[in-house]
Amino acid sequence: MPIKGQIMKNSELRTENKISQFIKRSKELGLKVTPQRIAIYRELAGSMQHPSTEMIYKNIKDYYPNISLTTVYRTLETFEKMGLISVVNTLYHAARYDANMEPHHHVVCVKCKKIEDLYDDSIAYSELDPQIDNYKILGYSVLFSGICEECKTLNN
Ligand SMILES: [Zn+2]
Ligand SMILES: [Zn+2]
Repeated sequence: MPIKGQIMKNSELRTENKISQFIKRSKELGLKVTPQRIAIYRELAGSMQHPSTEMIYKNIKDYYPNISLTTVYRTLETFEKMGLISVVNTLYHAARYDANMEPHHHVVCVKCKKIEDLYDDSIAYSELDPQIDNYKILGYSVLFSGICEECKTLNN
C-alpha cells in the first residue's frame, strides 16, 4: 500500500484506479469484497506479466500465509466468470490472467513464456474478414508468438 503523502508512480496510480473500479464493480455484481480478494486482484492489476495462478499465489502467500493455491484458483475463476478479468489464450496449458479489460492483443515469448500487451489498430476486424457467419462475434484478440529481447540476448 502506498504511504499517504508519498507521490505515487503512474503505474501505482493506475493499479489503485483499477482496484477502486474493481471494488465498485464487485459491489454492483453482488460479489463479496474481502481483503483476500482485493489482494489477489491487486497482484494481477499491478503486474505486467499476465500472471498464472501459481505466480499470483507465490506473491500473495508472503502476506496471506493461510491462503491456498485452490483459493487463488477459485477466486480467479470467479472473477473471470463475472467479467472482472479475462483469461489470455496462450500456447501453453497454464491459464494466464489479465486485469486489463480494454480490447488488446498479446505477444508471447516461446522461451520464457512472458506475455506482453499489444495495441495495434491495424489488426482491424474488418481487415481480418473471418468467415464465421453462424456466430454473433463479441470480440477478438490476436496472439503473436516470438522470442523476446532478453531471450534473444541470452542466446547470443
Ligand atoms: Zn523471453
Ligand atoms: Zn493483456
